[in-house]
Amino acid sequence: MSLAPSDKALVPFVSVDHMMQLVHRIGVKSMIQGIAANIEDDFRRWDRFDKTPRVAAHSPVGVIELMPTADDALYAFKYVNGHPKNTREGLQTVTAFGLLADVATGYPVLLSEMTLLTALRTAAMSALAAKYLAPANATTMAMIGNGAQSEFQCLAMQAMLGIREIRLFDSDPAATAKCAANLAQSGLTIIRCASPEEAIQGAQILTTCTADKKNATILSDNMVGAGVHVNAIGGDCPGKTELAEAILHRADIFVEYPPQTRVEGEIQQVAQDHPVTELWRVITGQTQGRRDAAQITLFDSVGFAIEDFSALRYVHEKVHETGLCHDLDLLADPDDPRDLFGMLMRAAPV
Ligand code: NAD
Repeated sequence: MSLAPSDKALVPFVSVDHMMQLVHRIGVKSMIQGIAANIEDDFRRWDRFDKTPRVAAHSPVGVIELMPTADDALYAFKYVNGHPKNTREGLQTVTAFGLLADVATGYPVLLSEMTLLTALRTAAMSALAAKYLAPANATTMAMIGNGAQSEFQCLAMQAMLGIREIRLFDSDPAATAKCAANLAQSGLTIIRCASPEEAIQGAQILTTCTADKKNATILSDNMVGAGVHVNAIGGDCPGKTELAEAILHRADIFVEYPPQTRVEGEIQQVAQDHPVTELWRVITGQTQGRRDAAQITLFDSVGFAIEDFSALRYVHEKVHETGLCHDLDLLADPDDPRDLFGMLMRAAPV
């Protein structure tokens, strides 16, 4: 497939409506699995990517971030926000869009909504990490924080790890009711819990996905027993964490990209030289993931640009297969590349 722009330099644009259609055509779980396969491939080629911590613009109420990365063929960036107070105003905590471009020409080859795609890729990343870190034959997950990301997380763990039971808790019971209703036909056994302590009962995987702009304690030290895998997603910004610090001293911690996670992840609570393992080293077999049944593993997830690159790469391929996009007149196309002014005259008033 050529990455070159069309003759008229039109850029495929995947709207929210197209993304919804694409997800239904492929199936949520198949799409998560496809994105996870791309992430796994791209993490195996870790050295081939330009990497930088995302560029964040903080305000008292939230953050706006740009997440760029590139290999030798493709460049990608995502624009994403995180505003925990937004839901009280009828707005989402996280919205995003992103772009994929051809390194050879610098021309964009895809512009896409990424709010849905972020939920899919974050779920894919969680399940991929859990595949290497969670106890073998895990059947039950606690899902604490039942907002926008939650259903995707549960379906990913079902599809990729064979999780059968989900134990839901949210400080807002309406969020739990929404999540339970959305998962009612999933084949998962859904248990609605009245406290985080109840939610973790019998769970081998503890996923925290809450949104609050503070150092919260969603899991306290005594809630994390031997052998569990903690999938901590919601702590992804300076001053925004979910785990009691003591857990970080008992767990083996796995991260995406340390220069970003040290600033944004749960490990912002501990010393800068606190030992962590980069997940790509586990995926390439350079380092062991889970060693034994008693080990506590923690995926300190913040979301890294390569995951969005992998997701956009997936969508780019599917858009070519399905045609689910608009052609966007995003790029100037002068007849003579140096005659931009001449192109402007096409629209001159008669
Ligand atoms: P959301 O606002 O839709 O849902 C968050 C839920 O957390 C809400 O239902 C809220 O009631 C609940 N909550 C808040 N405080 C709680 C507490 N103390 N106990 C239990 N529940 C609590 O947000 P979302 O889009 O689902 O995102 C959740 C978090 O995940 C955000 O902080 C976001 O920044 C983060 N996130 C991380 C990644 C990543 O790659 N790591 C990707 C996407 C989102």
